[in-house]
Formats: sequence, C-alpha cells, structure tokens
Amino acid sequence: MKIPQEAKDKLSRWFTEDEMDVHVIFCRWLPFGIGGIILGRVIIIKKFDLSPAGLGLLGHELVHVQQYKELGFWGFLKKYAWDLMSQDIPIASLPLEKPAYNLQREIIWELEEAA
Ligand SMILES: [Zn+2]
Repeated sequence: MKIPQEAKDKLSRWFTEDEMDVHVIFCRWLPFGIGGIILGRVIIIKKFDLSPAGLGLLGHELVHVQQYKELGFWGFLKKYAWDLMSQDIPIASLPLEKPAYNLQREIIWELEEAA
C-alpha cells in the first residue's frame, strides 16, 4: 500500500511528498528482531499504525530509503556491512543507523508533545 494521507500529513514536517512516495508491505515475521527492511522504494515493516511509535518507525525507514537512493543498492549494502564488521559498536550507532534512530526519536517526541 501507499502511505496513508493521514500519516503523510503528520510526517510532512520531516519528509517531502516525493520522499514519502513509497510502497509499504507488511510482514509479521522479520529476522533479528528488526522493525523494518527497505528495498529501494519498498518498505517492509512488521506493523504500522498512526501512533507516535508507529510513525517514528516509518520515519526511521524513510531515512534509509533516502540513503539507499543516494548510495544505490550495493553502495548501501557495502557500507552497512563494512561499518558493521569494522566497528565494534551497537547497530543503533552505525553511521547509517544513527540518523535514522535520531529522527525516529525526534518524531516520537514531537508527536507525543503535540498529542
Ligand atoms: Zn535502521
């Protein structure tokens, strides 16, 4: 499905209409306890709702969609794998994950404030 308009409205502070033009697919089972995977403009996500947490996760994945667009499929994969193997840091601190987690926190914070 496309991102519902209501979700787009809430995320419009952080993303343009074009950046939110992605397909969302639900998959109840994802490996390694991860919340989402992206393949180009397709986001595979465990679940999605309009709560601050749900929109935060969607925002997190949208950051990866942008990175993916900039680096390309192999560029993204290579950098992710290289960072993961070369640095002894938690996944959330990886250069590609940090901005995603930071924005996720910001979205949750701002939307909870607004509620
Ligand atoms: Zn991530």
